[in-house]
Amino acid sequence: STLFSAIEMAPRDPILGITEAFNADTNPAKVNLGVGVYYDDNGKVPLLECVQRAEAHLIATVTPRTYLPIDGLVAYDKAVQELVFGADSNVIAQKRAITAQAIGGTGALKLGADFLKRFAPDSQVYISDPSWENHRALFESAGFVVNNYPYYDAVTHGVNFAGMLDSLKSMPAGSIVLLHACCHNPTGADLTADQWTQVIEVITTRGLIPFLDMAYQGFGAGIEEDGKVVRRFADAGGPLFVSNSFSKSFSLYGERVGALSIVSADAAESARVLSQLKRVIRTNYSNPPTHGGKVVATVLSTPELRALWESELAAMRVRIKANREQLVDLLKQKAPGHDFDFVKQQCGMFSYSGLTKDQVDQLRNNNSIYAIDTGRICVAALNFSNIGRVVDAICQVL
Ligand code: PMP
Repeated sequence: STLFSAIEMAPRDPILGITEAFNADTNPAKVNLGVGVYYDDNGKVPLLECVQRAEAHLIATVTPRTYLPIDGLVAYDKAVQELVFGADSNVIAQKRAITAQAIGGTGALKLGADFLKRFAPDSQVYISDPSWENHRALFESAGFVVNNYPYYDAVTHGVNFAGMLDSLKSMPAGSIVLLHACCHNPTGADLTADQWTQVIEVITTRGLIPFLDMAYQGFGAGIEEDGKVVRRFADAGGPLFVSNSFSKSFSLYGERVGALSIVSADAAESARVLSQLKRVIRTNYSNPPTHGGKVVATVLSTPELRALWESELAAMRVRIKANREQLVDLLKQKAPGHDFDFVKQQCGMFSYSGLTKDQVDQLRNNNSIYAIDTGRICVAALNFSNIGRVVDAICQVL
């Protein structure tokens, strides 16, 4: 036998598998609600105007492609840190936060996981049940044992907060707790401000290590509002890990732009943390790519472009909300016995629709409507031309 002859086929990615099946479907009226991407009303992934203008500017100012610093473009790291923590935040004034450009939100999580494995090797990781499916795989591949804490309650379509809090209270000190800062993927169910207060309290008093994943800032209640959770954790003191992504909020999926921020006790600690994070980066990919970081840094630090971005992001957020309302209203008209009001309360791009695996199968087989087996749908993939068909099909399977 050779090195490769005994290698087994790896399991297919469940979400990418749905897109493959969708692509192979010849029904012209097919609808893909399984995606993890924002589609506009024409069913297209937008290229934001602010990005186009920043790119035009970058092309006009011809620059050589030297290596970036290990921790990324300085202007990018600064702008991102101010976005994530607030320009006037204490952690920035006190130099308690470091921010490094990363290869998307995934890359930021991987850097954080590798860093933590060096300095908290015996800790275990806790993720929500359910969570973005790559969370478990990322932390396991960094060498951690990954556990779940209770999160989604299928009966109320909301958060099982008592279960979550009990679980936090029973975790050993030093445990790493991964939390979705806003727009929980896959459920769309977020904590209230008061629930966050209790979570911060337990995490702080028990000496747990919070890791906030913010992949959808601006898709929930607003840029400022969605970032508030991060600021509250930062004010409570370190240690704190924050991964953030511009894949969705800038519609820059393929450019792989994100960042990892780490909050510690003081400036001296931060300097040591950054020096060690650079070693992690150096041995992973040496330094990040230039283009996406330059685009985002240009937009965030140019007042007109920043205002444009904020309005374009607001338009995406408002459209998702409108889609939720339209979906619920149409379902109310056509299936009056069923209550889908919870869909309006959910945040971000996704909804746990309450559809069962069997119903999802029927939608796929009978109507060429593709959702995730768990019932997760991407609300942004609904539009003028498909929503009626989707609602009719859902009514048939209820
Ligand atoms: N975290 C969550 C919760 C996500 O949903 C995603 C992307 N779907 C990521 C992280 C990864 O983001 P990126 O695509 O920028 O790597």
